[in-house]
Amino acid sequence: MQCFDCAELGRETAALAVCADCGAAACAAHAAAVARTVHRTAGLGRSTAHSAGRRLLCTHCRHAATAAA
Ligand SMILES: [Zn+2]
Ligand SMILES: [Zn+2]
Repeated sequence: MQCFDCAELGRETAALAVCADCGAAACAAHAAAVARTVHRTAGLGRSTAHSAGRRLLCTHCRHAATAAA
């Protein structure tokens, strides 16, 4: 699979990640890992895991996610 963002720029780069939001394939330059809070069901409540998980986003979705904050 080729990186979607690179393809738009006329380049062909092997993708190594898939965006968790839009599903686009992204190369190392266009993919970014962001922390994800992991929730687990515990009894009647919900607890949060001590260590954060990981979500891989393309540059577009990462910008959208951080710009909204
Ligand atoms: Zn790329
Ligand atoms: Zn995306």
